[in-house]
Amino acid sequence: MPLPTFSALVPAYLARRTEVATDQIAIAVAVHPGLRALHVRPGQFVKMAVQGATGTHHEGLFAMSNAPLEDTLEDGGLDDDGTAIGPTSMLRFLLRTNNPEGGEAADALATLRIGAPVMVSEPAGVGFDFARAKDRHLAFVATGTAMAPVRAGIEHALARPTGARSISLDLGLRSPSHLAHASELGRYRAHGIDTHVHYSEPLEDGSVIGPMAHEALLARLLEAERARDVFVVAVGQPAMVKDLRARLVALGADPADVVSNY
Ligand SMILES: Cc1cc2nc3c(=O)[nH]c(=O)nc-3n(C[C@H](O)[C@H](O)[C@H](O)COP(=O)(O)OP(=O)(O)OC[C@H]3O[C@@H](n4cnc5c(N)ncnc54)[C@H](O)[C@@H]3O)c2cc1C
Repeated sequence: MPLPTFSALVPAYLARRTEVATDQIAIAVAVHPGLRALHVRPGQFVKMAVQGATGTHHEGLFAMSNAPLEDTLEDGGLDDDGTAIGPTSMLRFLLRTNNPEGGEAADALATLRIGAPVMVSEPAGVGFDFARAKDRHLAFVATGTAMAPVRAGIEHALARPTGARSISLDLGLRSPSHLAHASELGRYRAHGIDTHVHYSEPLEDGSVIGPMAHEALLARLLEAERARDVFVVAVGQPAMVKDLRARLVALGADPADVVSNY
């Protein structure tokens, strides 16, 4: 899916930052309430511009980890000088840092002063529409920090039931130390979501050693003979999404039953 055209970037500020797992930070960005109101579907993302320590300008695309209707007021906090900021309208994100393949904007956000300005676009992308999940199995697949938009999708589905008969999550990570927000997985299980975490190591040539999230979902669907009775939200490495869609279509699924957020 081609990326959409982004709106002009408008001022916002970094309100909160937490190191949540190896090479991952969760941040909250305070935005104008009018911009927050344009976040209408899980899976949407923004363009964000940030100034690095040496005055360099970096831009990145980041998907919101909060569901549109989720209460984010608690993110109002104190800036580095102890001055109260917020509560105001927040967008939350989960960012990979120290990525050797790029991600300078995320690295700049990892060291930016709390309260410092950033620039953000309006939420973009069509997000996830769960209409096709009604009376079927709704499967979420995420790799790495792609858990951010998938988290938004799950929170949305919990708050606004989709009519799906069952829900599952397959999350692919490099190691247990890469698991952000571990307690949320326990909450998902308590809600009856069939939740699995798979650990694998990507190699430079694009191959992967270890069990892969989408393979695990495919194996379960095959065993239950449900490959045509599923609506899949898959986010992460494009190769993973492509492979999952191709293999489900080969099993008789409709290509429209495997969606991503971009
Ligand atoms: C519109 C848009 C929004 C984005 N939003 C964000 C964001 O909010 N935060 C962010 O950090 N990045 C974001 N990105 C960048 C990108 O989506 C992430 O880098 C991507 O999700 C991979 O995450 P990772 O680097 O954490 O994965 P890695 O840690 O590199 O990999 C995670 C797991 O996936 C496995 N894996 C690797 N390849 C495959 C494969 N082919 N099949 C199955 N499993 C595989 C690995 O073995 C590993 O276990 C965005 C990009 C775009 C275009």
